[in-house]
Amino acid sequence: MSDYKIAQTGLKTREIDVLVLGGGMAGCFAAMAARRDGASVVLVEPTNALGGQGTAGGVAGFCGDSERVNDLFAELVARLRKSGRIDPYDPNDDRRAYDLEICAFYLQEMVAEKGVEVWLHARAIDAQAASGHVEKVLVSCGATLVEVRPRVVIDATGNATIPDMIGLETLHLGARKQLPMSLYFTLWDTHKPVTPFLPDSCPRFDNDDNLPMTSLHCFADGRVEVKMKVVGFDAADGFSLSQAEIHARRQMMGLIYYLQTRGYRGRHGAFGGKPLSTHVLASVSRNIGQREGRRIVGRYTITDDDARTSLLRDDAIAVGDFNGTVEQIGIKSTRVRSVNGEQIVMSNADLLSSRLRNFGRMRERRVSFIVSLALDSPPDTLERIPPQLRAIVEAEKNVRLDRSHFARIGNGSLDFETVYFVTTPDYGRYMDIQQSINLHIIEMVQREGLDLAVPVQRVWRDHVEAAGVTPPGKPA
Ligand SMILES: Cc1cc2nc3c(=O)[nH]c(=O)nc-3n(C[C@H](O)[C@H](O)[C@H](O)COP(=O)(O)OP(=O)(O)OC[C@H]3O[C@@H](n4cnc5c(N)ncnc54)[C@H](O)[C@@H]3O)c2cc1C
Repeated sequence: MSDYKIAQTGLKTREIDVLVLGGGMAGCFAAMAARRDGASVVLVEPTNALGGQGTAGGVAGFCGDSERVNDLFAELVARLRKSGRIDPYDPNDDRRAYDLEICAFYLQEMVAEKGVEVWLHARAIDAQAASGHVEKVLVSCGATLVEVRPRVVIDATGNATIPDMIGLETLHLGARKQLPMSLYFTLWDTHKPVTPFLPDSCPRFDNDDNLPMTSLHCFADGRVEVKMKVVGFDAADGFSLSQAEIHARRQMMGLIYYLQTRGYRGRHGAFGGKPLSTHVLASVSRNIGQREGRRIVGRYTITDDDARTSLLRDDAIAVGDFNGTVEQIGIKSTRVRSVNGEQIVMSNADLLSSRLRNFGRMRERRVSFIVSLALDSPPDTLERIPPQLRAIVEAEKNVRLDRSHFARIGNGSLDFETVYFVTTPDYGRYMDIQQSINLHIIEMVQREGLDLAVPVQRVWRDHVEAAGVTPPGKPA
């Protein structure tokens, strides 16, 4: 373990609402969406432009139905369409190509117009969390180090960077098991014979079967976009990623030489397998294309079917004292299934006029509980109770402690109040946590030789008064 301490003087600090890490498509749209809700947003991106794999990685084509995403994405597509920088829409096409440099430009303009602050040449290099909440993220912005204190962090790095930094469970499959990397590059038709050139350090391929997996995509203007797989490296390991970039350029030189001298007849070939004898290298994407080097382990992984059928969770609601799950919403009434199994039909008018809490939209659950100890508990023991309650709560997973205090001296008890958050809306998980906390509290009370307060009702009867005894609080 290194004992290196950051010595930089004048380390800046910055408090913001939302810190978005990663200026790929996901990060840009998350930042714009957060900004729309009025939050102050900083978007951090290590390269020199926005778009991630979609621009710097050379992907430059939208898979899926690019006309049916959401309004922010529609705005990007509309700008690309207006400037003639995206292929026409064809619902049967599996990929809709766009100009990646213009896309990066429009993303930066959109993000700026929405008021997102962009830090380029910047990356998260460390993070600290307390009670499951990310409190600080150390960001290098060029040569400047900034300690960012965000209310919310969105990790859109595609590599579960923050979960890994704060020690959450992640899935790291490593080289050969993770999705393979690819390098994109473009060849340009000079319309003149070119002299093929193969540097000594680069591989010489001698037939189609030896080639790295290759796809050629031809454009009407003569450009040929080449996608070349690069296997055997680990995108989540910085040293391996560096080696992948170096290896990829050598492999690319070998592939270009092969295309110029032999042509490619494979499944994703072009020009009927004839040599590309008039083409030269025009550009190479800024970064090797990589994805999901590391993934966060969540409670639920969305499946292909969920995506196809637009997975929606049932809405769990509370109206007054009634809790249940919405089963059916009709024109005039709504059917709700209670936790006991009974079905209640509520008129929509009643629902709308009531105070309705939707737990399905809840991100975390605030829990407050009181431990009441007997009034005759020894004072020196009492001060040991809040730290023990805090430790009991903090020992649970999916929990963020807020506070624990000796809150009041009640009529018949000494009350300790504890507040914590369950960081998942799952009711079953909340009950598991509270049960475990309760068991540990009983153990603590026994260990300390204390008693829980027993509710006592004192009744003074008139005939007691008649016997000459005056109840407390009553004038003698
Ligand atoms: C080779 C390849 C081919 C693909 N082909 C297609 C295709 O044809 N069509 C299609 O629709 N999709 C395709 N995809 C998938 C598509 O590109 C991705 O799903 C999409 O671009 C991912 O966007 P993203 O924002 O989630 O992640 P990325 O685009 O990966 O963005 C992550 C960003 O995080 C940044 N980052 C990394 N580390 C840090 C850090 N420590 N701090 C801050 N920022 C950090 C990176 O620089 C990057 O810009 C392909 C992907 C690859 C890799």
